[in-house]
Amino acid sequence: MKKIIKKYILGFFVKSKGIISKPIYGGIANVFMLHRILPEELKNEFSINKDLAITPEGLEEWILYFKKSNKDFWSVDELYDTITSKKKLEKKGIVFTIDDGYLDNIIYGLPVFEKYNIPICIFITSCFPNKNAIYWWYLLEKYIELKSEINFRWRGKNIELSWCTKEEKYDAFTILRDYCRKMSKIEINEFLTGPLKLLLGLNSFYNEKLPCSWEQLEQLVDHPLITFAAHTEHHISLGFQTEETIRNEIVTNVKTLKSRLNIEVDFFAFPYGAYDDICQNIEEVDKMKLLFLNHPGNVFSSKRKNNIFIPRMGLTDNTLISRMNEIDNGIFHFSMNGFKRNLN
Ligand SMILES: [Zn+2]
Repeated sequence: MKKIIKKYILGFFVKSKGIISKPIYGGIANVFMLHRILPEELKNEFSINKDLAITPEGLEEWILYFKKSNKDFWSVDELYDTITSKKKLEKKGIVFTIDDGYLDNIIYGLPVFEKYNIPICIFITSCFPNKNAIYWWYLLEKYIELKSEINFRWRGKNIELSWCTKEEKYDAFTILRDYCRKMSKIEINEFLTGPLKLLLGLNSFYNEKLPCSWEQLEQLVDHPLITFAAHTEHHISLGFQTEETIRNEIVTNVKTLKSRLNIEVDFFAFPYGAYDDICQNIEEVDKMKLLFLNHPGNVFSSKRKNNIFIPRMGLTDNTLISRMNEIDNGIFHFSMNGFKRNLN
């Protein structure tokens, strides 16, 4: 019944071109999630993972679009203050967050954000500046390009896949990606030294080339536009781990960021957006002001004072203006979340 009502109301929102939905579901802000900022030719070095990057030109175009749409740009602290203060707003906010800690954020992204004086929050996973990350998403892409099959044993099961056409390659990537996301730190390491062994050297190369170093992060700590925040120690999905692992992944990352960068850590993003209820029992999480998800939706004011779930959406060179309109007028929020405004 609820589904039928939702469908009927959604149709009504669409018919009225978002005029009715905007005051109810338009929210006070939209938070966007980026990973990499790369010029077209570097972005094109990857095909399957291409949309992990936005070009500096594409980013600038979106910034100009938001300016033209009469939006303000907020830091994550301003976002928190606005959510919890209930003050009347003249303009809706746009918040840019960037996950993981890729060096290209600083080389190609920061000049664009500086040009328009736009704050950003960068979620750092310690394995990036520690240079011991396993870039399995890029390694899988490379493996699929070089080989035409994979066989491995995982949790007592034989996994056998082969591919030939472009579609099969994408399908194989999706299946293998889902396995990788379920893996523990030990399992992902075994995967790298087992089936992906031929790419061990490439992983070392990526560790040298792709992330910011601790020294580079230290130099940016006082940058007026940058907030650094937490994103776990080893960038494993928290949805499939033991309580001890989840605790270690968060606590160690927060501790490292505090001691290496001498900062307060008030914001946290879940790798792959995967949340587990166990996180509620962790003191470091409880102290966080905002918890960032990878889930579509708009931001609304909240009665909560901490641990407020923040929906985030990707922003790419291919994001459509029509989708951005649906986000802005609340139609997209309603279609993805139903009657619910806040996610917790
Ligand atoms: Zn991440």
